[in-house]
Amino acid sequence: MKVVFFSSKSYDEQFFNAANQGRHELDFHETKLSPKSAALAEGAEAICIFVNDNCGRETLQRLANFGVRYIALRCAGFNNVDLAAAQELGIKVVRVPAYSPHAVAEHTIALLLTLNRRIHRSYNRVREGNFALDGLVGFDLNGLTVGIIGTGKIGQIVAQLFQAFGCKILCYDVSQNEELLSRGAEYVDLDTLFSESDIISLHCPLLEATHHLIDENAISKMKRGVTIVNTSRGGLIDTTAVIRALKSGQIGNLAIDVYEEEDSLFFEDQSAKVLQDDTFARLLTFPNVIVTGHQAFFTDTALTQIASVTLGNLSELEESDTCSREVKPA
Ligand code: NAD
Repeated sequence: MKVVFFSSKSYDEQFFNAANQGRHELDFHETKLSPKSAALAEGAEAICIFVNDNCGRETLQRLANFGVRYIALRCAGFNNVDLAAAQELGIKVVRVPAYSPHAVAEHTIALLLTLNRRIHRSYNRVREGNFALDGLVGFDLNGLTVGIIGTGKIGQIVAQLFQAFGCKILCYDVSQNEELLSRGAEYVDLDTLFSESDIISLHCPLLEATHHLIDENAISKMKRGVTIVNTSRGGLIDTTAVIRALKSGQIGNLAIDVYEEEDSLFFEDQSAKVLQDDTFARLLTFPNVIVTGHQAFFTDTALTQIASVTLGNLSELEESDTCSREVKPA
């Protein structure tokens, strides 16, 4: 099958070529998918896209006109695809539901520890010969209460890792995780999670119901000085409300791997450009905020798995026009 890749990077080519072994005809493009760039897919049966490709109705209509029948997401989230429009147009959408939940969970802990122990600041100080400790006071994780929102594959591992530090785990999800219950985690309503957690870590998908889950109202219910970690999707957080709370001290620390307007920023070298997003620029000024550019998934284990499952999805579609990892509208 001919597959056109959008938003492709050198590492995508490397891992997909290694896993493909001549099975499919892979055509890599760095261009992001949009209604305009959809024309690159002309003559291909399938396209392969990533988290920030625009796969709204207009793009899908154009893809259908060019004869595209399959969209393979090389990621787990699918909030950037209009699934209802895809179904109407007869385009099937498949994804990689799990590649390495450990990669994302471990990055969550890495962010939290970096932020809490001020490693990002001490790293720079030490390189300049400054060994003063002022301003680097952290806090012990042992004994703290951690609220996990979304206790699926990633949330479960994050909860278990926090348990290893001696933290109490409070969970919120629309369905309960039996494994976590058996390990002593407790399910509570959102308000209780907000009011009792010292650290809140987000691991639910971005849906209409979860958009701006962390807004001014939610933040007002939290403990003063709360730490928030988001490695899920940027839209879960109302960034403007979070900035106000960081300025007032209501939020004590923020670690994010995702940002609600990240599609115009992330995955590209922007270092020679003037940053146009004033909200994001303000976030970067806080000493108690750390940001990574959607890299939580980025391990060799995960990339190998993503390539292998995506190509397997395409092979299933080629053979039977069905795939066990298809996503359909709710
Ligand atoms: P998962 O499907 O295994 O778990 C998601 C959990 O969220 C499920 O238990 C589900 O019941 C729960 N949920 C659904 N609606 C909810 C709601 N309204 N409120 C609370 N919980 C709700 O998914 P996962 O593999 O654990 O991934 C979680 C999220 O992590 C994904 O949605 C994706 O957005 C994000 N992610 C980020 C990266 C990264 O690199 N930063 C990589 C992979 C996944």
